[in-house]
Amino acid sequence: MPDRTPHTTSTTERGSFCSARCDCGWRGPARRARSQARTDAERHLVDAEPGSAPHRTRE
Ligand SMILES: [Zn+2]
Repeated sequence: MPDRTPHTTSTTERGSFCSARCDCGWRGPARRARSQARTDAERHLVDAEPGSAPHRTRE
């Protein structure tokens, strides 16, 4: 399936802030705690997972 984008997330530290980013180009907001950035990344993965979005219908 060509429309399947691999989502590989990682966290980047900038000064005292940490933010999550993904291979698809997504970037999370700057967080003070790395655990928060990781939560952002996990949420992004859930959002990006095909079929998990309730407003999206398949025909
Ligand atoms: Zn992504």
